[in-house]
Amino acid sequence: MNGFDFDSCFAETLQNLRREGRYRVFADLERDSHSGVHAYDHRTGRRVTVWCSNDYLAMGAHPDVIRAAGAALERYGAGAGGTRNISGTTHEHVLLEGELADLHRKESALLFTSGYVANDAALSSLGRFLPGCVIFSDELNHASMIEGIRHSGADKRIFRHNDWRDLERQIASVCKYRPKIICFESCYSMDGDFAPMEAICDVARRHGAFTYVDEVHAVGLYGARGAGVAERDGLLDRIDMFQGTLSKGFGAIGGYIAGSRDAVDFVRSHAPGFIFSTALPPSVVSGIRAALDQLKEDGSARAALARRAASLKAKMLANGIPVLPSPSHILPVMIGDAALAKAITDRLMAEDGIYIQPINYPTVPRGTERLRITPTPLHTDEDEDTLIAALVSARGAFPRWTELTAAAQPDIHVSMRENADAIS
Ligand code: PLP
Repeated sequence: MNGFDFDSCFAETLQNLRREGRYRVFADLERDSHSGVHAYDHRTGRRVTVWCSNDYLAMGAHPDVIRAAGAALERYGAGAGGTRNISGTTHEHVLLEGELADLHRKESALLFTSGYVANDAALSSLGRFLPGCVIFSDELNHASMIEGIRHSGADKRIFRHNDWRDLERQIASVCKYRPKIICFESCYSMDGDFAPMEAICDVARRHGAFTYVDEVHAVGLYGARGAGVAERDGLLDRIDMFQGTLSKGFGAIGGYIAGSRDAVDFVRSHAPGFIFSTALPPSVVSGIRAALDQLKEDGSARAALARRAASLKAKMLANGIPVLPSPSHILPVMIGDAALAKAITDRLMAEDGIYIQPINYPTVPRGTERLRITPTPLHTDEDEDTLIAALVSARGAFPRWTELTAAAQPDIHVSMRENADAIS
């Protein structure tokens, strides 16, 4: 052998992942845009019901969205043709940025090719180019924020999850003249809990800090026009910069920030992840504009999702399924072991035609492996009953699941009663 044995290293690392039961096996799906929640699974050759999509409102299957994207594809072709600076800024991009700024009641917005890129680009440029910047980051922030902060090279302080008192203690210890950014999510994607946004904004006001919130799991879903948790809680003007995605509540792909004209221009002028990447295809942008229009005007999909999530949680509770006490539309069903989570989801697929992807480390801590179940407004009562029956049956088939989660049950039941009120 001449030098390092790359192939053995790759194979051994993959083997370790398999041994731990957290080797990722992808599905091979063909989504049915007519039903919105079903797909043809090429591995098993059968039609499955999808219960883990982040297209929370099924806007990707909305007829107006499909029509708008299709018409724009005919009209403008397949791609944007360049970076935003070099021929890639089309009128569709300009319009959508205006509409996103309006959604969040901000002066300006800026599009990116994904929510991940938006966080990475915005935080890395804010942290790098604000002199002496310190970034305060919730310990459960998403990987894209963690990477953005790391790339900025700024001083970073981690505060305990949703603990504004810990945040305040830490922020008070930093020189008052240094620029400070508080960086958090409004709705955490794995536990489905909300941030104490008003208390965090109060801390920011007391210490002159800049508030940066990731509303990725809330835009489209909360607030009278779908601007997210800040809108629902009357806090739009207390947040300095919003970051959101166009891939979840709006059903397509892309990300954005919204804020003051100068703050957004600052990022636009500095962020490599924005400057050196091709713009989103105009057809996609047109479809997103149709979704945004719909969700600003009409809250019925939001209401239907809240009803579906509340009813599914109530049924899980009644049937002893260990769902975390989440107040949002995200229903984390705890398993507590990677191999078991995989075995349960394999069974759901094979026996019941239900597709749920298990969530393992490093997405969640070891020992908290789970099924992350996400209803949509298009799931029916029948879909819901089939899911509950399948989960109950799987619980019977895997006694270890009950053993691993039994201790948490009493607390879950108490909290669920409170949370059923919160979502409805
Ligand atoms: N922020 C959070 C909290 C997320 O959970 C995700 C992805 O799931 C992202 C950002 C990245 O968004 P996107 O999927 O648009 O890249």
